[in-house]
Amino acid sequence: MSNPLYREIVQDIRTLVEATAHPRRRTIRLSPEVAAKLEALSSAGSAAAAADTHSEPAEVPAASTPAPDPGSPSDSGAREAALDALEKMVAMCTKCELCHGRTQTVFADGDPTARIVFVGEAPGADEDRQGVPFVGRAGQLLTDIITKGMGLQREEVYICNVIKCRPPNNRDPKPAEIEQCEPYLVEQLRLIQPEVICALGAHAARTLLRTNVAVGKLRDQWHEYCGIPLRVTYHPSYLLRNPADKRKTWEDIQVIMEYLGIPIPQGKGS
Ligand code: SF4
Repeated sequence: MSNPLYREIVQDIRTLVEATAHPRRRTIRLSPEVAAKLEALSSAGSAAAAADTHSEPAEVPAASTPAPDPGSPSDSGAREAALDALEKMVAMCTKCELCHGRTQTVFADGDPTARIVFVGEAPGADEDRQGVPFVGRAGQLLTDIITKGMGLQREEVYICNVIKCRPPNNRDPKPAEIEQCEPYLVEQLRLIQPEVICALGAHAARTLLRTNVAVGKLRDQWHEYCGIPLRVTYHPSYLLRNPADKRKTWEDIQVIMEYLGIPIPQGKGS
């Protein structure tokens, strides 16, 4: 490979990386195969450059894991401690009127170091009773999506809601309630630093993305929340009422799995 061609390829890759890099972390996630090819290319190019004393050393961005944000806890112990402290703060929160009707706050469930965070809108009756998000039939379906679909344990992901207290009679949260409660979600995400968010259902998606567009139109593209890539899919409760759309959710989940480099089980591809 001639050095000008090599430099041209490297420049193209750099352009691609700059165009697609995570805006906050300034990194790009590569599959192991692509990373191996780039490393091989880098080695070949370095060897060629070394042989050509007139050429400048070339550098190829390697696959990298996201760097922690400045000021964020860098180890899981500190992260867990910070999340525990936040959970205690939420448990005492009286910032909006939803505090009056709750049995308890519903903070989150799962791994504070999870690569993926599922976000729903608000706790329902079962969640309010148990203090855990996504329990009951809808919760079981989400668990099935995670375990049978993604091949993960529920404990390996992080599950939470935008709103931490149950709205009475499962009404939609009011804008003022979202405004008061959303900073807790933002802080959770800042501490967890997931690689991807999956917004579950219209209400969560519209709240996070500040839009009134229907889930059907939001789900086929990447979005971003707090600088984190976000995909939208249907809420498990909706899927219980509309089982035909489970196929679409599985398509959405496969996009996320591909992004995270999680192998899609044979025979389950779309
Ligand atoms: S919904 Fe959120 S802001 Fe309102 S009282 Fe509960 S924790 Fe506080």
